[in-house]
Amino acid sequence: MLLQKKKLKKEQCKSCLNNIRSCEKAFMCEACKHWYHLKCVGVSTKLYEILQTDEGKHFHWFCDDCDSVVMMELCNIAVRCDKIESELMNEQLLNNDQRVTRVEAAMSAKVDEIDRKMAKMDCELNKVKMKVDNQLVTNKNDIGNISTKVTESIQGQEGQWCDVVKRQVDVTLEKVTDNIQEVRNSLSETRAQAAEQWDKESRRNNLILYNVPESTQPRAEDRNKADIDFCIQLFNRTNALHVGVSNEDLIQVFRLGKRGDDIAPTRPLLIQFASYTFKNFILESLSKLKHAEQKYKNVIVAHDMTKTERE
Ligand SMILES: [Zn+2]
Ligand SMILES: [Zn+2]
Repeated sequence: MLLQKKKLKKEQCKSCLNNIRSCEKAFMCEACKHWYHLKCVGVSTKLYEILQTDEGKHFHWFCDDCDSVVMMELCNIAVRCDKIESELMNEQLLNNDQRVTRVEAAMSAKVDEIDRKMAKMDCELNKVKMKVDNQLVTNKNDIGNISTKVTESIQGQEGQWCDVVKRQVDVTLEKVTDNIQEVRNSLSETRAQAAEQWDKESRRNNLILYNVPESTQPRAEDRNKADIDFCIQLFNRTNALHVGVSNEDLIQVFRLGKRGDDIAPTRPLLIQFASYTFKNFILESLSKLKHAEQKYKNVIVAHDMTKTERE
């Protein structure tokens, strides 16, 4: 700031070396703090008045002695400021560079780490993929094997089951067939027995006479009458069997077999009695025939046996 001209303290003008009076306008050098008369340093009143206004207070004034020094110092300062600024800037740039380098290095390290991790993950992934692939192949093979085994097993069992069922059916059929045959055999046996029994029963009251002379009469009726007469005489005559049999006691009298052209040999004569009692009497009296006439004596009396009995 420019100095006021008026001072209570007495000041000497450094230019003219006179005291500065209160009525005189004066300056103080901002550098050396010496006072100067306005007129001694050649500044107009007009400029002095401008300098006293608000606009003028920003102006600085130095005496001639100080001016060059101040300017030089200012220059030096300016140079030094530039230098410092430059140095600061450089330092800052350097710092920035270093920071950038550090950041870059850190980032690079990070990137490297990430790269390594990713490579590791890739590696792990590949391993897992390979494992999964291998497992898939193994599983596929296993499934194939199991499928084959199951198919074979089913096919084998189908055959086995078929065989088992067939065998079982065959066995059952055989059993059923055997049973049926048994029943058939049993039935036919029973039938045969019944038939035999019936045959036996129907022959129970019969007798067969051999060597009974056969009549030569042309009519069968007459021949049959001759046979009946012969039998009645054989059974009743006192010098024969002497049993006492009437015509009514004889149910049937007939010749067995076909009548041949030749008379001899005679066919057997079958007699069916009304009761078993007569037959029995006759059989019990057969010994009497030993003393009978020749034609009765020759007669052989036999049971009317069934075919089975004859065998
Ligand atoms: Zn002066
Ligand atoms: Zn000065």
